[in-house]
Amino acid sequence: MSNRIKTGIIGATGMVGQNFIRLLANHPWFEVTYLAASEASAGKKYCDAVQNRWHMQGDIPANVKNMIVEDAGQIDRAIGKCSLMFSAVSLSKDEVKVLEAAYASKGFAVVSANSAFRLTPDVPVLIPEINYDHINIIPIQQKNNGWDKGFIAVKPNCSVQSYMIPLHALMTKGFKIKRLILTTLEGLSGAGYPGPSAFDMIDNIIPLIKGEEEKSEIEPKKIFGSIQNGQIINNTSIAISAHCTRVAVLDGHTACVSIEFDGKKPSTDEILDCWKNYHSVPKELGLPSAPETTIIYNDDPDRPQPRKDRDNGNGMAITVGRLRPCNVFDYRFVGLSHNTIRGAAGGAVLMAELLTAKGFIKS
Ligand code: NAP
Repeated sequence: MSNRIKTGIIGATGMVGQNFIRLLANHPWFEVTYLAASEASAGKKYCDAVQNRWHMQGDIPANVKNMIVEDAGQIDRAIGKCSLMFSAVSLSKDEVKVLEAAYASKGFAVVSANSAFRLTPDVPVLIPEINYDHINIIPIQQKNNGWDKGFIAVKPNCSVQSYMIPLHALMTKGFKIKRLILTTLEGLSGAGYPGPSAFDMIDNIIPLIKGEEEKSEIEPKKIFGSIQNGQIINNTSIAISAHCTRVAVLDGHTACVSIEFDGKKPSTDEILDCWKNYHSVPKELGLPSAPETTIIYNDDPDRPQPRKDRDNGNGMAITVGRLRPCNVFDYRFVGLSHNTIRGAAGGAVLMAELLTAKGFIKS
């Protein structure tokens, strides 16, 4: 019998849910034992529920192909079938809050790709390389809600890892960041399936992704924040101005970033050195999804590019390029990460691995 942790996915039929299925197919620690989605998919075999909308390369993994999809709203159906629940449902924020809290109240460790709880002060928004210590808020969250075993941990917006991890590499070496201006060029899969129509996207760029600029400006402050008096307090020392655009790329979110430092300013070589020698806690802990190299600097003058670089490190690495002086701030660079892997399912799996390694998720 497998002693892997029994794992469920709510929203298993969607774009992010399918990535969870793919990434967990042969996972050494987690075994998918429960799938749920909307009422429309409930009662069907997984392969029938995703008929004509399986977007992953390769076939549906054999371990889930014939599994019956449950209605995510019927929480009791999951009891006894799994202890870890990945969440990738598309619902309104209020509905997600009610649903995820209901799972946590029943003892599930909820690891969510959704944005609903990202601003809640006792819910950690984790990039495991950066704020792994924010998991220490979980006992406080459990106490605040009267939950014994269950809890909620969420991952940040899918575009922020392409620049947060490179910035963290500089901050850990003592270079303080004062201001950032960034423009994201975000792939279509970030909007879920079917996303914007071909008619809207071909020969075009959409200069609005609703709510994305606010997320890009607020979430980094929480991730760079610290636990004080039972809450995660935002780091307000960095000012961020974001433009977020949707572009006709399937997968991969690119960010063009200008940075201004506060005080000591690194040389170009020092920045490259920080990126090259970045110390990754997930790698040190031996987490299965941690990439071998977290930050890959590509010094070709026309990289990173989504098609060529998004799959680096199995979609978990951050590829950076075009580091150069900025005429207005201090430096500029381009960062790229895979939005549905590092930015969603893969990032959430890495979080769950961290939570398991630290004893928060158990069989
Ligand atoms: P999606 O492709 O539209 O999939 C939505 C999923 O939610 C499907 O499984 C759907 O089930 C389920 N669902 C819809 N209504 C439901 C209901 N009433 N009850 C239970 N389940 C319901 O969306 P997605 O792109 O995978 O995104 C899922 C979540 O992840 C969203 O909150 C999104 O913001 C977030 N996210 C997405 C990305 C990305 O790059 N795509 C990145 C980070 C975070 P049916 O198939 O049965 O309708």
